[in-house]
Amino acid sequence: MARIVLNNANLLDGDRPARQANIVVADDRIETVSEAPAEVGPDDRVVDLGGRTVMPGMIQGHFHAGYWGTGASGRPVGLEVHPSLQAVRATANVRTAIECGYTGAISAGSPHAIDAALKAAIEEGTIVGPRLIAGSRDVGSTGFSADHSYPSYMQLGTTPGVSTGDGPDGIRRAVREEIKDGAEIVKLFVTGGHATIGSGERWEISREEFAAAVQAANERGAWTRGHIASAEATLLAIELGVRIVDHGDGLNGECIDRLVETGTFLAPSMLFPKWVMQAMAGNSWADAMKPDWDAMAEILPKANAAGVRLLVGDDFGAFGLGHGDYWQEFELYVNEVGIPALDVIRWATKHGAEAMGIGDETGTIEPGKLADLIVLDGDPVADVALFRDRAKLLAVMKGGALIKDTLPEGEKR
Ligand SMILES: [Zn+2]
Repeated sequence: MARIVLNNANLLDGDRPARQANIVVADDRIETVSEAPAEVGPDDRVVDLGGRTVMPGMIQGHFHAGYWGTGASGRPVGLEVHPSLQAVRATANVRTAIECGYTGAISAGSPHAIDAALKAAIEEGTIVGPRLIAGSRDVGSTGFSADHSYPSYMQLGTTPGVSTGDGPDGIRRAVREEIKDGAEIVKLFVTGGHATIGSGERWEISREEFAAAVQAANERGAWTRGHIASAEATLLAIELGVRIVDHGDGLNGECIDRLVETGTFLAPSMLFPKWVMQAMAGNSWADAMKPDWDAMAEILPKANAAGVRLLVGDDFGAFGLGHGDYWQEFELYVNEVGIPALDVIRWATKHGAEAMGIGDETGTIEPGKLADLIVLDGDPVADVALFRDRAKLLAVMKGGALIKDTLPEGEKR
C-alpha cells in the first residue's frame, strides 16, 4: 500500500502547543504521528516539509454555499436570482472553500434544498467540496427579517428562499418540510439584530414556536441553529438544546457559564457586521450595529478563556465578503478582538469537527483519524496573515486524497 509520509512537520492541532512530528497517511487515514522518523516502504511518497506547518483541515461553522456566487472579479454576485444558477454557483463556492483549506462546513442556511444536493454530489464524487452538514431554508414566522424580501404583493404562493410557520403547529410543519428536503440542521430566526431588521430584543418567533421547532427537529434526528442576538434568547436556546447559537450578541457571564456547562456551540461571526459598519458608515442601520459589536469584542476573549466551544464561519458571499475571503476572520479575531491565534485555529478545527458530530474522526491530527489536513508554508501562529496568501497553502488533503498538491514531489525509496 502506497503511503504519504510528511516528515519534519510543525504540527499544529489547535489543542496543544506546536510540536515537531512526522506524519504517515495510509489510504484515507492517519497511520502514525511520531517524533521518530517513520519506516518507509518502496512505494511511499516521502516529503521533507522542512518545518512547514501541518494542521487539521479547517471547518466553516457558519456557511452559506447557496445564496450568492463569487464572480471573476472575486466579488459577490447575485442573490437567489434563479434556483439553478444558485445551485451552479454553490458548486463553485464549495470548491473555493476546500481550495482554501476547509475540509468541512456546517450550513447556516440555503434555499431550494441546494445543500442536500451539494452534499450528495460531493459524497458521490461528482463535485469536489468539503464534508458538509446540509442546512435548511431560513425558518421563522410570517414577516421575520428574511421574509421581508418576499412581500405578499409578489404573490409567489410559497416563498422560495425562506419558510414561515405561525404557532407551534405551523412552525413544526415548516421544520419538518425542511428535514423532508434533506436539511440536517435547521436554521431558525429567533431574534432580530446582528445585521437584520430591528434589535436583538425583537423576537422573530415566540418562545412557544421556538420550543416546538427545536423539538420537531430533534424528533427527526436533525439539529437546529438560531440567529440570536440577545442574552435572553441565548439562554432559552441553550435550555431547549439548540446545537449552534449564531451570533449571540448580548452575551453575558450567565450565557458563558451555561454555554460551557452544556457544550453548546457559538458562532459569533463578527466579520459581516464589521464589514457592513465600515462599508456603510453613516447609514443608520449600519451605525446601530456598533454597540452590540463593541460589547461582543469586549466579552468574547472571556468566553474563549472560559472554554466556550466557539466556531469560525461567517456570511461569506454576502455584499463585499467573497467566498475565499475566509482568512479575514483570523485577522479580525486575532488582531482586533485579541484572541490568541492558536485558539482561533482550535475553533476552526477541533471545535468545528465536534460541531459536525465527527470530532472522533477529524479535527485533530491523530493516528486512526481521517486524514483531513492542510500544509502551510509558514507558521500561522507566528503570522496569522499567512492564510491570506493561497499560494502559501501548499496542500489540502481530505480523507487521504490530495485536493491541492504543490508539495515537493518527494522521493520514492
Ligand atoms: Zn448567515
